[in-house]
Amino acid sequence: MKETLAALVGVQRLDERLTVLRRRLESLPAELGERESAQSVLEAGNEALDGRRKTALVRSHEIETEVRTAEARIASLEQKSRSLRDAGAVQVAQHEAQELRDKISRLQDEELRLLEDADRLAAEIELGRVRAEESGAELVSFRQTVEADVAELRAKVEELDADRRQRLAKLPSGPVEVYEQMLEKRLGRAVCALKGSSCGGCGMMVPPNDRVGVGTSSKLVRCRSCLRIMVPAELWAPQDAAAAAGEDGGAS
Ligand SMILES: [Zn+2]
Repeated sequence: MKETLAALVGVQRLDERLTVLRRRLESLPAELGERESAQSVLEAGNEALDGRRKTALVRSHEIETEVRTAEARIASLEQKSRSLRDAGAVQVAQHEAQELRDKISRLQDEELRLLEDADRLAAEIELGRVRAEESGAELVSFRQTVEADVAELRAKVEELDADRRQRLAKLPSGPVEVYEQMLEKRLGRAVCALKGSSCGGCGMMVPPNDRVGVGTSSKLVRCRSCLRIMVPAELWAPQDAAAAAGEDGGAS
């Protein structure tokens, strides 16, 4: 049984790595998606600015036409008032001409503001364009990195998965079944160490009989609380035990 337990610890390690790799595999497309939508937002912002600039320019052209029309009308009114004999009619024509001059002045003020807006927007658009170009280039290289990482991760997952299947195929079916069941129920942690007199998985006290069973590795012992398969500390992390021993030796 000891060999089976040691093998299950090995599979548990593989499964932990597989979990990390699979999580990374899932998160990469999401990260890419976030960056892609940030890029779209940036580009849409620039387009909106461009739309505002075009609207301002269209309006300023309209104003120019309105100004020309008003000026022509003023010229014709002036000409008319020179030929008019009736003082009242002259006054009416002059009054209309004055109103038109006031209107031209308002329109020219508006046009000035619109042109200033258009200039300011052009500067903003240029800045936004440069920024979008930079982040677009970054996005392209990020996408390539993600694609390479995904391919690499997939290959690694396949390799580890094959290794895992091979290891499990060599073990007796009973413990394997328990392992697979617990792996699912305990979110990827089916095996744990006995830590002192407690289960290393859930921390519950382990009865003395069970502790002896775990210590001798003579049978498959499961925590009565979390049902995980328990193994002695030296099976769980032999390298840790060795390192701890080495550290102790160095310190003394
Ligand atoms: Zn437990």
